[in-house]
Amino acid sequence: MYAIGIDVGGTSIKWGLVSKDGKVLATDFIQSRKDEDQNLVADKLVYKIDEFLKQQGVERKEIIGIGIGSPGTIDSKEGEVIYTNNLDWQHFPLAKILENRLGLTTKITNDANAATLGEVKFGAGKKYKNVIMLTLGTGVGGGIVIDGKLIEGNKGGGAELGHAVINFESDILCTCGRYGCLEVYASATALIRQTKQAMEANRDSKLWDVVDHDITKVNGKTVWDGYDLNDKTAIEVVNNYIHYLGIGILNYCNIFRPEALILSGGIAKQGDRLVNLLTDYCEKNHYGYGGSAPVKILIAELGYESGIIGAASLVL
Ligand SMILES: [Zn+2]
Repeated sequence: MYAIGIDVGGTSIKWGLVSKDGKVLATDFIQSRKDEDQNLVADKLVYKIDEFLKQQGVERKEIIGIGIGSPGTIDSKEGEVIYTNNLDWQHFPLAKILENRLGLTTKITNDANAATLGEVKFGAGKKYKNVIMLTLGTGVGGGIVIDGKLIEGNKGGGAELGHAVINFESDILCTCGRYGCLEVYASATALIRQTKQAMEANRDSKLWDVVDHDITKVNGKTVWDGYDLNDKTAIEVVNNYIHYLGIGILNYCNIFRPEALILSGGIAKQGDRLVNLLTDYCEKNHYGYGGSAPVKILIAELGYESGIIGAASLVL
């Protein structure tokens, strides 16, 4: 038996045939464009997935179901994308359409939720049932799994862990319209901004050598390279970043007391040293530390196929 996992992105919609133990066996995709009519997207997907199953020699009765991870606000009960900015979809009942036209049980959720469930079922969180995931990329995505189940909130509007304010006196505006969200301090975008600001203020920093004296080359890795060179400015930026992210992590530890908190996205590529710095920070600032159950901080394991595996995990 297999599942199909569909990963909706801004430039392509990818899908894969996924085995019961979470292995991706074959994949295909269609291009996605913001100006494309959503009904045409549905027609294309129905046709291409049908063809894909024929090519793979897989019969309908061997498919448990289809899972979809999509950006935006998703009403998982109604099987509908309420709104997604990336593709300009509005009230698009994508899961319902695929279910009716392909005759396969179809579930949909937000892409961050899907990725979290994938990590809990098949990745870094395999040993645990209570897991929080933070994706540190352009923004900060969040997912909550309690007792093995996704917590999505009413009409899928919850689990926006990046949009909890961590500094109410902040003058940094978030995409959500509020100031001082975790996202504006702990995303890769935020770390790049913090790195550039520190470089402007410290002309003698080795960070300038890291980017060949071209500040436009600063990325989410730059400051870590400076950190390796023992550069004072880089160490300060990293410590501040750990402080911001640590506040967010501790808030979620105190609210949910998960067994594990998983980090994914570009910044999570820093691996062990990110985990060690955060674990140190959390141990020093943990509520009831020593008394309460500790939270393991882990790095996501599923990599570039996490979107497909996560989506498939909705039905596996
Ligand atoms: Zn926000």
